[in-house]
Amino acid sequence: MIEINKVSKWYGSFKVLTDCTTSVKKGEVVVVCGPSGSGKSTLIKTVNMLEPFQEGTIMVDGISVGAKGTDLPKLRSRVGMVFQNFELFPHLTITENLTLAQIKVLGRSKEEATVKGLGLLDRVGLKAQAAKYPGQLSGGQQQRVAIARALSMDPICMLFDEPTSALDPEMVNEVLDVMVELAQEGMTMMCVTHEMGFARKVADRVIFMDQGNIVEDCTKEDFFGTPRSERAQLFLSKIL
Ligand code: ATP
Ligand code: MG
Repeated sequence: MIEINKVSKWYGSFKVLTDCTTSVKKGEVVVVCGPSGSGKSTLIKTVNMLEPFQEGTIMVDGISVGAKGTDLPKLRSRVGMVFQNFELFPHLTITENLTLAQIKVLGRSKEEATVKGLGLLDRVGLKAQAAKYPGQLSGGQQQRVAIARALSMDPICMLFDEPTSALDPEMVNEVLDVMVELAQEGMTMMCVTHEMGFARKVADRVIFMDQGNIVEDCTKEDFFGTPRSERAQLFLSKIL
């Protein structure tokens, strides 16, 4: 589904990604972790070209994201992305947040988009909040709306960049529960997260990054059992 092949990226003379190669198969859940500044966000954003890269190739469902002529808006509409800070439109109601892109990008009717959006809102446990504005919801609720909004576009895969790290601790689980459910339903997911409980529960593989390199890419059993690099061991000893 996602094939990342020898991707390198520079900011000026600073090399932020070095020869990164990995893949996420259909239905797989891959967790990306590593120290701050190691390039996790940059890597995940290259997948839908929110970050361009200078070397290598990335294919999403057979489409080369970096190639000239690739219809990026169309590709992005099929790749769901959830960020740390929710990024809902503050001036729109929850229902409007859920329907806007369906109407504008997918050309759905308002009625169809509303049925779909409210169904997903119900699924993340927030049916009663439809008429509210994002500012009237807790962080955990806003993040669940953000996930529902991404799902409303019928994505072929989902990218998460530390979706729980801006949340108060008591709200982390309500978001992780939604993600676990998605994973168990077979959604293809690439998740930057330090929630190792989530990784243990649903990850098929764990990628560990350090200084722009993928230094571990293995099953969760191998990662939690015997991570090969010293850097990964040190990292685990700090967060577990
Ligand atoms: P964190 O855990 O803190 O989110 P990360 O692993 O996601 O870190 P990135 O945000 O991908 O790391 O950043 C990787 C490196 O690239 C960092 O050293 C960062 O300072 C640098 N960087 C990120 N964006 C830019 C930019 N626009 N210009 C220059 N350097 C940047
Ligand atoms: Mg980051």
